[in-house]
Amino acid sequence: MKVLKFGGTSVGSVNSMLSVKKIVESVDDKVIVVVSALGGITDKLIHTSKMAAAGDSAYEKEMKEIVNRHIEMVYTVIPAGKAREVLLDQVNELLSELKNIFQGIFLIHDLSPKTSATIVSYGERLSSIIVATLIEGAQWFDSRTFIKTEKKHNKHILDSELTNRLVRETFKEVPQVALVPGFISTDKDTGEVTNLGRGGSDYTASILAAALNADILEIWTDVDGFMTADPRVISTAYPITELSYVEAMELCNFGAKVVYPPTIYPVCHKNIPILIKNTFNPDAPGTIVKQQADHFSKPIKGISSINDTCLITMTGLGMVGVIGVNHRIFKTLAENGISVFLVSQASSENSTSIGVRTEDSALACKVLNEEFAKEIEMGEISPMMAESGLATVAIVGENMKHTPGIAGKLFGTLGRNGINVIACAQGASETNISFVVEGDSLRKTLNVIHDSFFLSEYQVLNLFICGIGTVGHSLIEQINSQQEKLKQERGLNLKVVGIANGHYAYFTRRGIDLNNYRKELEEKGVPSSPQVLHDEIIGMNIFNSVFVDCTANASIAGLYKDFLSHNISVVAANKIAASSEYDVYAELKSIARQRGVKFLFETNVGAGLPIINTINDLINSGDKILKIEAVVSGTLNYIFNTISEEVPLSETIRKAKEEGYSEPDPRIDLSGKDVIRKLVILAREAGYKLSQEDVEKHLFIPDFCFEGSLDDFWKNVKTLDADFEARRKKLEAEGKRWRFVASLDNGKGVVSLQEVDSRHPFYNLEGSNNIILLTTERYNEYPMLIQGYGAGASVTAAGVFADIMSIANI
Ligand code: ADP
Ligand code: ASP
Ligand code: MG
Repeated sequence: MKVLKFGGTSVGSVNSMLSVKKIVESVDDKVIVVVSALGGITDKLIHTSKMAAAGDSAYEKEMKEIVNRHIEMVYTVIPAGKAREVLLDQVNELLSELKNIFQGIFLIHDLSPKTSATIVSYGERLSSIIVATLIEGAQWFDSRTFIKTEKKHNKHILDSELTNRLVRETFKEVPQVALVPGFISTDKDTGEVTNLGRGGSDYTASILAAALNADILEIWTDVDGFMTADPRVISTAYPITELSYVEAMELCNFGAKVVYPPTIYPVCHKNIPILIKNTFNPDAPGTIVKQQADHFSKPIKGISSINDTCLITMTGLGMVGVIGVNHRIFKTLAENGISVFLVSQASSENSTSIGVRTEDSALACKVLNEEFAKEIEMGEISPMMAESGLATVAIVGENMKHTPGIAGKLFGTLGRNGINVIACAQGASETNISFVVEGDSLRKTLNVIHDSFFLSEYQVLNLFICGIGTVGHSLIEQINSQQEKLKQERGLNLKVVGIANGHYAYFTRRGIDLNNYRKELEEKGVPSSPQVLHDEIIGMNIFNSVFVDCTANASIAGLYKDFLSHNISVVAANKIAASSEYDVYAELKSIARQRGVKFLFETNVGAGLPIINTINDLINSGDKILKIEAVVSGTLNYIFNTISEEVPLSETIRKAKEEGYSEPDPRIDLSGKDVIRKLVILAREAGYKLSQEDVEKHLFIPDFCFEGSLDDFWKNVKTLDADFEARRKKLEAEGKRWRFVASLDNGKGVVSLQEVDSRHPFYNLEGSNNIILLTTERYNEYPMLIQGYGAGASVTAAGVFADIMSIANI
């Protein structure tokens, strides 16, 4: 025999009703079908009764809707004929009783808990007779006659002994299809209508399955099974194939609404499996809950949360070592019907925190203050402190027992994302770690955990890209072309959630379509400014986020500090921050370290060449950088490789600009500023405290060329051509070439134009390439040499991309 329960949405529409009929009629075995009220009806009954009690005559309109919904359902799912007539009579009778009750409430302006319970019972009474008529040969049973409750601590609790006995008597002979309304019950002493609590139809079905030793309990709902997280919050949540009873219980207890928590116990006790299935997708395998779930799966099966948490903290030296304080706390709360779902006590025993629902918090504080009034008066214990607006999250999985490091990973991940854990608890069974966070961070918390424990199919990195000039654009194109491959092969989802240029800024959690990003930016973007970027990006409070700066803008570089402080990693192609005052550079690095995020700027020197990473690797492995010699200006190298009898100096500069090798204003390259910045960055990464003003510079363009406008510059630079050509001829005759070299020796930085002969490693440096020679304690006689393209949008973008990827690998 099987017990099948169909929830509100499963009996909420014509199509779902017909699906229920099909599912039930295809079962070979005998079956007990438990149904909820039509989807949304219980809420509506409660709402309407409150309106009537408040004297709001608009309750009649609500009542009309309730009537219409049921009558229409009868007309659409039950074919015309005798059965429909009989059903309509029954439905109309129930609806007119309900109408009378509402009218009574409206007149006397009073709504007792007893009347409330009577009103909500109509939901299941109506739905169950409709389904009983719909399913061929179904026999209707009244659960009020065999599901019995008793009143304890002001709550209606199931009397299992009596209920089990009555269920067995009622179902001595189980018909082919029995139809039972879920949720509703009666008090064993007074016979008044009661219920099993919101969501209680699941429980009704479980009680029946256990009492009658069913083969299986099937819960039919509107999702493909028990999911790794609430699918309404985590879009990447997916169904779990198997859960143990313990895991299912832990997840439900912490808010996974898919199964009402008390449901698990009766069937678990009898070792009856629960199968959770989707009425709207019956072919999906669903989730099976049984004694032992697969032990090869991930350590964490699922996450759930309760968002209206209040934490009551009791502190005082008077609690230390005193036996019985906890007993008094729990006894007091239990006597007042307050359920506690999290307890956290420090081993010093001078503080105990208790998680309760916000609706229970005022009463909990009151009764605890009364219980400990004497101690509070003596100053041994402080009055209860209640902190509300919190959320409790639980991660659940029996395999956690076998896997060390889960708590470390959990709290490390939360910390890196700037999520503060207010209290935490892990049971000795090690199947659940629960913790309390600010309600505002709940969404981020769930996402980050789901992501980092690979519960999601993909790990997500949320990118904000600022600057869509040549480098930014090239980066977006590269991400666009790699996105799918990274998803498939690396399980990494690079999601661009923000794009900005100097005019517009556009942000969306969903991710921007990179094929159309310019259009989206212009159509949906807001006016851009550093302040807007700052406020929006920090305000989105999105997990695993990275700010990517492809601008050369100082105000944007000025945002890094706040981003890093808010646990947002920064990847900069922009050189300004890393080469600005030493203290700024050092502070950014230190904040990133403290926050567990990254501040990366590999492309600041040599575009995509792995220079900074190499220096870091050498130093981290105990080497010491003694000397750096480098040609790190692709622009200047291009100029000195292009200059010839036919192409004079001024022309090479113009070409460098036209080909996109130089800064838009080539004077930045020619003044050595760019090379100095790069040298400063290299020196700092090599462990030297160097600033731009410390660098000695020997330029090859006289000062007067840098005065005035860019137009003046183009005129002035022409006057240098003849002299340069004469010098070039002489150099050629000597078999030498010019290289603009940055060097660091003994902590001293110099940039200068040098003449190198054919034996020098810099002699053959082609085009706009860069070269770096690193002399270290280990690479001493033969220095390490890194060489390759050192400029250009696509290699720079590739370097930025590599920095982003290294963040994904944390
Ligand atoms: P029914 O009316 O069938 O009893 P409920 O609305 O009570 O359905 O429960 C199903 C809903 O529970 C789903 O639609 C989903 O939004 C929500 N839910 C919350 N957490 C989970 C989870 N971990 N897995 C599946 N569903 C969940
Ligand atoms: N109809 C009830 C409710 O909405 C019981 C249930 O759906 O399980 O809470
Ligand atoms: Mg439910």
